[in-house]
Amino acid sequence: MAAKATSWSKPVTKVLRADGVRVGEIDTAATPGFKGNKQDGEKLLQERGAVLSDLQERLYANGRSGDTRSVLLVLQGMDTAGKGGIVRHVIGSVDPQGVDHAAFGVPTPEEKKHHFLWRIKRKLPRGGQIGVFDRSHYEDVLVVRVHELVAPEVWGKRYDEINKWERQLVDNGTTLVKVAMFVSLDEQKKRLAQRLDRPDKFWKFNPDDIGERAYWPQYQEAYQAVLDRTNTEYAPWYVLPCDRKWYSHLAVTELLIDALQGLKLDWPPADFDVNEQKKRLAQA
Ligand code: AMP
Ligand code: MG
Repeated sequence: MAAKATSWSKPVTKVLRADGVRVGEIDTAATPGFKGNKQDGEKLLQERGAVLSDLQERLYANGRSGDTRSVLLVLQGMDTAGKGGIVRHVIGSVDPQGVDHAAFGVPTPEEKKHHFLWRIKRKLPRGGQIGVFDRSHYEDVLVVRVHELVAPEVWGKRYDEINKWERQLVDNGTTLVKVAMFVSLDEQKKRLAQRLDRPDKFWKFNPDDIGERAYWPQYQEAYQAVLDRTNTEYAPWYVLPCDRKWYSHLAVTELLIDALQGLKLDWPPADFDVNEQKKRLAQA
């Protein structure tokens, strides 16, 4: 089911597709496909959050009945792009028992001893779950490429490795929703400044984030390579403008609704005789 015609001029799954996108030309303050303002967006988010929640419950119910399919939301973006906000405002509308959340930071000494996909595979969603990756295997061709943490021959092979591995995931019943989140350099500065102004945001501030700003062009180049080389038919990228948080929350909600609707989930049938159980209950 498409989003309401009154709010979206075009489906979000079409307008955000990464096909042919030039990272340097993304309008990070845009609200592609959406006709309303912030207030409209926030109102619609309430409604659509309820739809998402219903679909998620179906996925979970089917998982409990042996369905091994899952959905994996991959959130990849620069600091302050709003990955945490997506988790709170989008994923927050669904039942936490149906969510497998994983955040990927600097690899631990143990993780460093293994292939880069090792720690990722350990966090894949189980059947019936929505997995959420706050950062992901893509860090291994982003921060790793920008800072030359491994040789170019090593990271250079990873794009194909990732494609192959994602193909397997999809074949095994995981629907991938890959979202590349973009803020402008100015908006990032504002958000970092806020983190320094507000005691309730200090915990999010990392002094290293300021230094990373000097590498902006290199990150743009690395993101471009990700979009050019890992935007496959079976696991496409969506490019999300993130200067307006309300838009990013609404758009990811729609992407997840679309992914779940694609699974055509009915409620699992009873594995008992309903009438017989009603009779038993009446007499109990
Ligand atoms: P945050 O998401 O703000 O908690 O920061 C996590 C940090 O871990 C970011 O600076 C990432 O670039 C970094 N990180 C994530 N994955 C890797 C990786 N595979 N190699 C090196 N650094 C990473
Ligand atoms: Mg950070």
